Amino acid sequence: MKTVLLAGGTGGAKLAAGMQTVIGSDLTVIANTGDDIEILGVHVSPDPDLVTYWLADQVDQVRGWGIKDDSFRVFERLSRLGAPDWFSLSDLDLAACLYRRNFIDEGGRQTDAQLQIGRGMGITSTVLPMSDDPVRTRILSSGEWRGLQEYLILEGGQTEVEGVELEGIAESAPTPEVATAIADAELIVLGPSNPVISIGPILAVPGMKELITSASAPKVAVSPYVAGKVVKGPTDHFMRALDRPTTAAGVASLYMGVIDAMICDANDPDPAPDDVRSFSTDTLMHSTESRAMVARAVLKVGTQLVGE
Ligand code: GDP
Repeated sequence: MKTVLLAGGTGGAKLAAGMQTVIGSDLTVIANTGDDIEILGVHVSPDPDLVTYWLADQVDQVRGWGIKDDSFRVFERLSRLGAPDWFSLSDLDLAACLYRRNFIDEGGRQTDAQLQIGRGMGITSTVLPMSDDPVRTRILSSGEWRGLQEYLILEGGQTEVEGVELEGIAESAPTPEVATAIADAELIVLGPSNPVISIGPILAVPGMKELITSASAPKVAVSPYVAGKVVKGPTDHFMRALDRPTTAAGVASLYMGVIDAMICDANDPDPAPDDVRSFSTDTLMHSTESRAMVARAVLKVGTQLVGE
């Protein structure tokens, strides 16, 4: 089943890993680039790269980001030289970011750089940036606007969010690869990612929602709330910033008009969304097997919706 998965770098990325084990090259991930940052002379694209590392089975699962068993020798030397040291990058991670910077500086597209990084890592599925145009998520917190990475790292993602802005979004557009993948899909999945800063920027690219809603494939979202709670990260702060309940129903309210169904966690104590069809299954992805199991459950819902 040709599947397009919209994803950020944690929940969505884990579902991508599960999906790849089940459908291999039939999976195309459209990843958020609102988290991108230019720093240390390189172009860091955290979500597309994290998805790629999950798909290549290289991610540091303990830390939740970066590459397992990697070292920080270049970064340590850079900070000794006086470079900014709040944003760290491990050595092999730095390579993809250097490659992307150079590729784009020479006139290449971010999409082609990402496809090449995916090929270099030997992944069988496809990872596409949501757009080749720069979009940068900015956060208002403690009365101050700052880049998303500064909020996540310097503030630890701990302080309440007062506003979210997507710089550059009005001038951005989906790429031809994104448009083709969506049109050709048999199933479109909004992954269990932060709905505001991971899925939100993807849906906010002008024309993206229209591409998705006009596609013939059923559209299904997977809730990032497991047993009523966020597994990791500041999703609750962002839900509150948009005045939404911190529940699967709150997430579904942000996807109204886009999705046909929502998959909620089987242990979720909160009521399922009542304005969209909902399905229930275990959604905690803590192992290779559970990631594949969640992927199979999502595909089963997709098959059911296609058959109706
Ligand atoms: P980020 O880009 O690193 O912030 O990652 P995402 O936006 O992709 O993911 C953050 C969300 O993933 C959080 O809301 C988590 O609750 C959710 N998440 C993480 N692990 C799981 C899981 O195993 N199952 C589900 N359903 N959600 C998860």
